[in-house]
Order: sequence, then C-alpha cells, then structure tokens
Amino acid sequence: AKCGPDGNFSKGEVLPFGPIAVSPSAGVLNYGQGLFEGLKAYRKTDGSILLFRPEENASRMITGAGRMCMPAPTVEQFVDAVKQTVLANKRWVPPTGKGSLYIRPLLMGSGAVLGLAPAPEYTFIIFVSPVGNYFKEGLSPINLIVEDKFHRASPGGTGGVKTIGNYASVLKAQKIAKGKGYSDVLYLDVVHDKYLEEVSSCNIFVVKDNVISTPAIKGTILPGITRKSIIEVAQSKGFKVEERLVSVDELLNADEVFCTGTAVVVSPVGSITYLGKRVEYGNQGVGVVSQQLSKSLTGLQMGLVEDCMGWTVRLNQ
Ligand code: PMP
Repeated sequence: AKCGPDGNFSKGEVLPFGPIAVSPSAGVLNYGQGLFEGLKAYRKTDGSILLFRPEENASRMITGAGRMCMPAPTVEQFVDAVKQTVLANKRWVPPTGKGSLYIRPLLMGSGAVLGLAPAPEYTFIIFVSPVGNYFKEGLSPINLIVEDKFHRASPGGTGGVKTIGNYASVLKAQKIAKGKGYSDVLYLDVVHDKYLEEVSSCNIFVVKDNVISTPAIKGTILPGITRKSIIEVAQSKGFKVEERLVSVDELLNADEVFCTGTAVVVSPVGSITYLGKRVEYGNQGVGVVSQQLSKSLTGLQMGLVEDCMGWTVRLNQ
C-alpha cells in the first residue's frame, strides 16, 4: 500500500515476492527513512493459525513513524494487512513445534527527495518467511559478549524505535563478536558505559534471588513486545519484576540471565564475557526461572495452553 504525507494509504494488494522499484533518490535509500516490525504466526495442533499480539507491533510502528516523520497505517489497517498476508501464505506456516512464519512489515519513505527532508510518498509492505530457531544452538544457552567499544544508541537518538539505521550501526560489532564465536553482543549505555541496554535484536533480563530485573525503557532501547509479555507472565506467576538501571556488575553476579525477542522468544544465557573475563551461569545457563517463563510463553503462542491473557489472534481460514 502507498500514501502521501497525509497518511491516506491506498488499498493494498497481495503480490508474489520479488523486487520492488523505488527511485534512486528515495528517502529510505538516502536518509534511512524506514521502519520495520517483526512478529510471528504459529500453527496450533488443530491446524489453525495464531498471531501473537499484532496490535502491539502496529502501535510500535505508529510511535516509530512519529519519530521518523512518516505517516503510518492505523492499528486496524496494519493488523488486517498482516492477516491477509499470512492467509495468502498459510501453507508456509510450519506445523506446531517446528518453527513459525516470521512476518516482516516495512514502512519506508519511497518518494524521491534530494535535500534532507521527509519523503513525499510512503510504501507499506509485508513479507513473510518460515523460520526455525533463531540461534543455531536452538533452545540451548547463548554466549554473549558485553561490548566495550561500540554503542547501539544514545539519549535523544532513535534507539527506542525500530528504524533501519539502528541495525546498520550494530552490524560491525555483531560481525566481530560472531567471528570470535559469541552468539551476539550486549550493549552498555553510552553515558556511563556501565548499565545494560540490550542485545542486537533482543532485550535482556537478570535474575537474582528470584527477583527479575530488566533495563527500564528510556528511549535508548527497543520496548520489546516479548519483554513486556514476559514481565506480565512473570508477575502473574508471583515473581517480583523490576524495571530499572541494571549494572554490568549485577549481570556478572546474577543467578541466571536470559534474553527475550520475537525471533529468540526466551533464550537462556550460558556465559557473559566482559573485558576479557568470562562468567558462566549455573546448569549450563538453563536457569529455572528462564525455563519456566519460556515454557509459559511458548505454550501460549503455539496455542498449547489456554490464552488467559487474551494475547493471541486466531485467523479465520
Ligand atoms: N531489541 C531490539 C534492538 C530488537 O530488534 C528486538 C526485536 N524486535 C527486540 C529488542 C525485541 O523486541 P520484540 O520482543 O518486540 O521482538
């Protein structure tokens, strides 16, 4: 679907996957005026298809569009477009437990600009792909390195929204880390170089004495939908959850550490390396709290347990 700066999107259409034409002077190509989202469709054992909290992705795109001077589809338009795209690709939704259909909505300044300014035209696209587990280790723990050279986002920047440029800035740190055998990079805050921010594409949690802590949302980290969901699941199970500044020292002294995100869902952290020192967590990183929360959330997403939170949206096939 396309629109001008007024945000009145044309009726979208389902097209075969393939290249799209944009002007070489498109805002997205020259000034990074682009946002994306990521969500998943899961197949239940009865064959039906579930989306997980798609209206949360819609709201996050609307917030991000405000920051990036773009019009955005309404929550209803967004969710409807996601549903139509998944239905058109329903044969690609893997069986229960064998993965999911990853859904990638993109909003971009597709109109031509020369001087630095918001584009005169916008395009909203959704493409999908079946996926298995994000980290090659599957459900086993991941090994993170705390970044001491590169930063992901600074106060007043765009770290709090899902704009494409944020990912350009982490490619190098991630490449170096992967080259050394780490699964991913954990970033620290730019002001003190001491407080945890997030991993390249997921949020971070630490558990100490059964209290779960995670960095507060303050504009430099992405407000993850899995993060928010895990907080609610944990609270419903009686855990104390704190959203606050979490220091790297607390991380190194935690009982267990885990990451959350659409792609990784809940991934236990087996080890953290910081300034050349490696800390390993108990039970090879698969802590009891991460295990319990992971089981609850994936059960809900795949429709294996009753959705008492009202988070899943069933598609009418
Ligand atoms: N942080 C970053 C930088 C991300 O790219 C993602 C993935 N969207 C997350 C956190 C986790 O967000 P969510 O749980 O909504 O996938």
